[in-house]
Amino acid sequence: MKELKDLCRENIWNLAPYSCARTEFAGRNARVFLDANENPYNNPYNRYPDPLQVELKKQISRIKGVAEEKIFLGNGSDEAIDLVYRVFCRPGKDNVVAIAPTYGMYEVCADINDVEYRSVLLDENYQISAGKLLAACDEQTKVIWICSPNNPTGNHINREAIVEVLQKFQGIVIIDEAYSDFSSERTFRSVLDRFPNMIVLNTMSKAWGCAALRLGMAFASKEIVDIFNKVKYPYNINLLTQEHALEVMKNPLKVDEWVKNILQERSKVMTAFLDLPICEKVYPTDANFFLAKMTDANAIYNYLVAQGIIVRNRNKVQLCGNCLRITIGNKSENAELLGALRQY
Ligand SMILES: *Cc1c(COP(=O)(O)O)cnc(C)c1O
Repeated sequence: MKELKDLCRENIWNLAPYSCARTEFAGRNARVFLDANENPYNNPYNRYPDPLQVELKKQISRIKGVAEEKIFLGNGSDEAIDLVYRVFCRPGKDNVVAIAPTYGMYEVCADINDVEYRSVLLDENYQISAGKLLAACDEQTKVIWICSPNNPTGNHINREAIVEVLQKFQGIVIIDEAYSDFSSERTFRSVLDRFPNMIVLNTMSKAWGCAALRLGMAFASKEIVDIFNKVKYPYNINLLTQEHALEVMKNPLKVDEWVKNILQERSKVMTAFLDLPICEKVYPTDANFFLAKMTDANAIYNYLVAQGIIVRNRNKVQLCGNCLRITIGNKSENAELLGALRQY
């Protein structure tokens, strides 16, 4: 890996962060807070929330097995994705490389930040070789995006290929593990210390059932996390989110149960799809959704919409012609979908 200083934008490396009241005084014994122009009424929501989310990180550290100082929390993974560009990529000069097809936010954020986005097409099994990804890089490539399990294809990306990229690429490698709770593959989060150039993304939005909270996590070296913390909005995670996330995390067994149910339902729904005359293929998945190749994805999508059932039409995505992406719902939602498709 290159020196972090050389990967960072110079203005970010030299940035003196905003010093908020809650950071300037972080002592324990204070009783009277007259430092932040807050309203004394409407406790506890009158107070600014903890800018570094210490309590929440303690809990996440226990659950995820990552040291607190290696955890960054964002307003959804989307904030962490945007920060990657703002920290590492000089607009109009640097570029990033990503697998394709993949999660759309990497490219949208590249466009917003005026950073060239280079996509490298997966093969017909939705896999990639390290050589192909590395061949797309040049001196100005700061970041490689890998999503595993990948969205919208559902499969995990070959571990050896990812390790080879981590070892050979001199810049930052992001592994987006938004769906890893549904997968039996070993996580990259668990080998964080082996790769100083790696940033692993997790989210509360999928297995944890908290998409509305907007809480995403980035796991990385303390040096990278410190830079993210100085660039983010001072109070990026609001108090309601911090409180509710702590509440949910008190009961991780509940999440295990949700995941177990979803995986059972997934295998039932996929089997049922294979029996549909309008389904040509279902693709292997490690996530809470799967990709199904249909006889006519557009027509079937429109038919389902008319029934009030919404799936994701991926027909226009490269390598996903005539594919629908089906999220696994609860028993009755899945039954409604299958019932409608059998009537098609
Ligand atoms: C759903 C999803 C996320 C989650 O984003 P949030 O902003 O945390 O809700 C991240 N990455 C991928 C690939 C996803 O599909």
